[in-house]
Amino acid sequence: MAAFVYGPVPSRRLGRSLGVDIVPFKTCTYDCIYCQLGRTTNKTVQGASLSPVDRVVREVEERLQRIPRPDYVTISGSGEGTLHADLGDLVARIKRITDVPVAIVTNGSLLFRTEVREACFGADLVIPSLDAGDDSMFRYVNRPHESVAFDQMVQGIADFRKEYNKEIWLEVFLLGGVTATTAEVLKIKEHTDRIQPDKIQLNTVARPAAEEFAFPVGRDELEQFCKLFGKGAEVIASFAPHRQMEEFKARRDDIMALLARRPCSLDDVANGLMLNRSQLLKHLNDLASQGLIKYTYRDGHVYYMRES
Ligand code: SF4
Repeated sequence: MAAFVYGPVPSRRLGRSLGVDIVPFKTCTYDCIYCQLGRTTNKTVQGASLSPVDRVVREVEERLQRIPRPDYVTISGSGEGTLHADLGDLVARIKRITDVPVAIVTNGSLLFRTEVREACFGADLVIPSLDAGDDSMFRYVNRPHESVAFDQMVQGIADFRKEYNKEIWLEVFLLGGVTATTAEVLKIKEHTDRIQPDKIQLNTVARPAAEEFAFPVGRDELEQFCKLFGKGAEVIASFAPHRQMEEFKARRDDIMALLARRPCSLDDVANGLMLNRSQLLKHLNDLASQGLIKYTYRDGHVYYMRES
């Protein structure tokens, strides 16, 4: 059972993406109200060697030998990857074993640190986030570690843009009734104009979020906001459902059997079936979208159960 590598999973942005999850579950600099992994349990800005690079690289190599070539190897998953003190070394070593492009998905909070920007230089694509236009909205939506300042975070992404000559796709996650207003979007746009990413990708809630008050934005509305950002902005479209099902078929019966017995949290299912949480979430969301399972909130946690 691979501990750090999952998939390939179908990704809306990256095609078939081989995921590499290098930090412990919900170890993050943020605690976003829309996080699909639930509330952050270890909010930190302290960099550390959070997983053994040798073993991660070995798992990536073994998986790549067994599967059709994916479109990307993506450092992403259940926390903030730039907290890993050996990220640069990890990227360099993955690049040595494969010519599949390497992407890093990051919330961007630590790009103000020189060593974090340098760690990302080896990747072929970096996908940071910007979900707010000012400090108070940043604190409401992303609930960052107290030491992360909004201006410093934005400046870090802008500095990275100047130094990094490969692709940067900036994700802007909009929330209904919060940031999905023309005034808030225009505030965010002031910063995206300064950063000048290669793409701006608008996203919204599509899965159970950490907080019940994180609401989605309708597709038409999102398209309208997209126009405000101008050229290079797009709404991230969903991946074709039938392709997802091909990828997920193998585990579906196990999950259904477990949920038929009792409602389970994400951790219950992940531990019971020895599945990576990020991969499991895709299974659960897919089953929920088909009406086969449902979820409820209890004491701040999401519980999944079989539809009767
Ligand atoms: S959405 Fe990403 S950045 Fe926000 S809390 Fe979850 S893992 Fe961290």
